[in-house]
Amino acid sequence: MDYKDYITVVQDYPQDGVRFKDITTLMQDGDVYKKAIEEMAAFANDHDIDVVVGPEARGFVVGCPIAYSLGKGFVPVRKKGKLPRETVDADYGLEYGKDTLSIHKDAIKPGQKVLITDDLLATGGTIKATVNLVEQLGGQVAGLAFLIELLYLDGRKDLGNFDIFSLMTYD
Ligand code: IMP
Repeated sequence: MDYKDYITVVQDYPQDGVRFKDITTLMQDGDVYKKAIEEMAAFANDHDIDVVVGPEARGFVVGCPIAYSLGKGFVPVRKKGKLPRETVDADYGLEYGKDTLSIHKDAIKPGQKVLITDDLLATGGTIKATVNLVEQLGGQVAGLAFLIELLYLDGRKDLGNFDIFSLMTYD
């Protein structure tokens, strides 16, 4: 089974020239979604993690079932203003301007081993900001896991020496 058969590539979305990788067609297939999550959970298990962290919204789609299958907690990272209690924040660059991600200040205990996960690694900006949040709280990033990595954007190069797992890659 090739996971890529379950990804729909949408030409010129959300703007001209972009080939958007739509993961909803993978999620719609219960067997394939389960298998994909199990492979990501096995990577997390190899790293003996304490907690899973994922940025909204598609980081929840992969992070929550990984955490559930391992019997670990899940910590959401959200756009600034969406979490109800005290947060720490990190800025990240967008094509035009910047945005801010937040995490609850008490969400991770110093020294906890963290798996950071998202659906897709593109330029790496979202994940770099998520790593920054985890490290501000004293968490130890044990690994990064993605369904998809876009190799042509080379998001890895700015991420440091983390162990990175990608179920699919696109050249
Ligand atoms: P980055 O910050 O440039 O690495 O972009 C990654 C974020 O953008 C992830 O949270 C993705 O959900 C989203 N993203 C970027 N490109 C795509 C795509 O082709 N398909 C689905 N999500 C994407």
